[in-house]
Amino acid sequence: MPQLHDRASASQESVFSRMSRLAAQHGAVNLGQGFPPGAPPPFLLRAAQDALGRSDQYTPPAGLGALRDALGADLGVDGADITVTCGATEALNVLALSLYGPGDEVLMLEPVFDVYMPQARLAGATPVTVPMRLDPQAGWTFDLNALAAAVTPRTRALLLNSPFNPTGTVFTPDELAGIVALARRHDLWIVSDEVYDELYFGERPVSLRTLAPERTFTVGSAGKRLEATGWRVGWIAAPPGLSAGLGGVRQVTSFCAPAPLQAAVAAALPVARDSGFYDDLRAGYAARLALLAGGLRDLGATVFEPRGTYFLTALHPDWTAQTLVEAAGVAVIPGEAFYARHAAPHGLLRVAFCKSADDIHLALERLQRYGRGQS
Ligand code: PMP
Repeated sequence: MPQLHDRASASQESVFSRMSRLAAQHGAVNLGQGFPPGAPPPFLLRAAQDALGRSDQYTPPAGLGALRDALGADLGVDGADITVTCGATEALNVLALSLYGPGDEVLMLEPVFDVYMPQARLAGATPVTVPMRLDPQAGWTFDLNALAAAVTPRTRALLLNSPFNPTGTVFTPDELAGIVALARRHDLWIVSDEVYDELYFGERPVSLRTLAPERTFTVGSAGKRLEATGWRVGWIAAPPGLSAGLGGVRQVTSFCAPAPLQAAVAAALPVARDSGFYDDLRAGYAARLALLAGGLRDLGATVFEPRGTYFLTALHPDWTAQTLVEAAGVAVIPGEAFYARHAAPHGLLRVAFCKSADDIHLALERLQRYGRGQS
């Protein structure tokens, strides 16, 4: 038989899929994989119903004009600089294949979102990770000097994520200014994964695009913003004039994202912005974060309060993801899932709060019962 190639060196089943499978097998409450519990907002569903039968054929590979314009207006960029993709995952892949190649190094922070390293490898490049620090008191901190020390003559790009899955970090304007200065000093591309740009709990995150427009490719996701992770509509906002350069790769990865869903997102983006939908979304998540974080602390966990995303990270001396899913009936993601080169902080867990309050209550009850059984 001919050989199969594993160029990504990614695990055959991601830990997110594995934990969802184990959750189903053990009847566990799934606080692992990050997807919302319910349906997307009615204005998005109505827009999709309107689009079916009207927008059903191929769109240009860069995306439906109406969506590129709507995204341009929403992000404050020219619609011509937008490339629509099948989710942020494809956006990141198009950028990997367009920006890095054999011999190049791509700097990223660890913990690292699971697609970044395999995508760099698929492009023939070498992913190089720099660890975030986790201090039980101070929480997660980022060390610009460590990032700077990892730059070599081969470094081609910085790949960053803010708000950051899984740490919940939102980089401060000072940190971002340091990152931009580093990128300019070494003439690096910046890939800024901002899929959680509307999911924050303090100051609105600053987009790297606004600080270094000449070298920043911003990645976004309608799935995250509009609670429709299965729709697979994402985007890249390229530096002015550079989106045409992504066209060749984008054309052969999936050609275009689903046309009716692009049309629906185009119609929904201004509604979401003008109706206060994102404010309501944040308020809903903030309430569920408070519920989950408070409950976990009551059970003896150290919780690192996220500034954004719909995940929190926590440490508990007696818990592992494997025993929780099997014995407590609660699925979470083990910290090791986000580490490849460095050791994960011992006992680190990522817990999703993009779930119903009922599920969070049930999970906390089960954890309490599990704790009683242990003691
Ligand atoms: N980047 C980050 C940091 C994510 O958490 C996710 C989804 N979990 C993605 C990218 C992928 O987003 P999409 O579903 O739009 O492909």
